[in-house]
Amino acid sequence: MSDTQRQEYKVSRAQHPADTCVTVGAATVGGGNFLLIAGPCSVESAEQIATTATAVKAAGAQVLRGGAFKPRTSPYDFQGLAEEGIQLLLQAGRAAKLPVVTEIVDAQQIPAFAEVDIIQVGARNMQNFSLLRQLATLNKPVLLKRGFGNTLDELLSSAEYLLSGGNDQVILCERGVRSFDPALRCALDVAAIARLKELTHLPVIVDPSHATAAAHLLRPVALAAVAAGADGLMIEVHPDPASALCDGQQSITPAAFAALAQDVAALRAALR
Ligand code: PEP
Ligand code: MN
Repeated sequence: MSDTQRQEYKVSRAQHPADTCVTVGAATVGGGNFLLIAGPCSVESAEQIATTATAVKAAGAQVLRGGAFKPRTSPYDFQGLAEEGIQLLLQAGRAAKLPVVTEIVDAQQIPAFAEVDIIQVGARNMQNFSLLRQLATLNKPVLLKRGFGNTLDELLSSAEYLLSGGNDQVILCERGVRSFDPALRCALDVAAIARLKELTHLPVIVDPSHATAAAHLLRPVALAAVAAGADGLMIEVHPDPASALCDGQQSITPAAFAALAQDVAALRAALR
């Protein structure tokens, strides 16, 4: 897409020079407001999600995440607790006073998301245009993740489906792209954070958990994202990563999350 065409898009900074702010409950993202999202890859049980919610809230998280409809590469892997998972997530969020975000993989699931605060569109569905068109009709924030093989133009065009359909409560998320190097699962595109902030007024957050797929790499990559200007982070946290049904290798403990949250706050203060 040419720069001229891009500037006519509703997502473009040229159309809307001021930062867009998206508010969920007591939290706002964009316009200098930083959003910390944390929680497990998947909701596994009432106890697991409630324990995580209490711990991440105490550490400073403002939104609770937890997958209920999981887009797994293998059909034999844990697929999530579906509607029951959403109910357990909502209960844990309410008890901890945290809004919740969870992923939708099919437009038919929209009724199950009625009380969900932010609907996540995952990397694999970034270009599911019929899903985007349906989400555009809802009065609800959407967290749109960049596909691991998609350009920034394609990400912004997908966001344009939401804005042009009437939903401007959109948060973009960089979560790493495929590279040639098997030493890393994905390459976090740090420059994309800064570039997106030029191209669009929408808030841009980063998911370093799926970008690294390795808990031991999380801290430096998360801090790099903050330094590059990210408006927030989404971090996978599990009370017992070794027993997680999904993505345990990249999940950090509540204690590690609390330490990271302090480092993020210190880095943001130093950059001001
Ligand atoms: C997720 O955040 O749960 C997820 C599956 O991430 P992605 O779509 O970025 O792979
Ligand atoms: Mn995950």
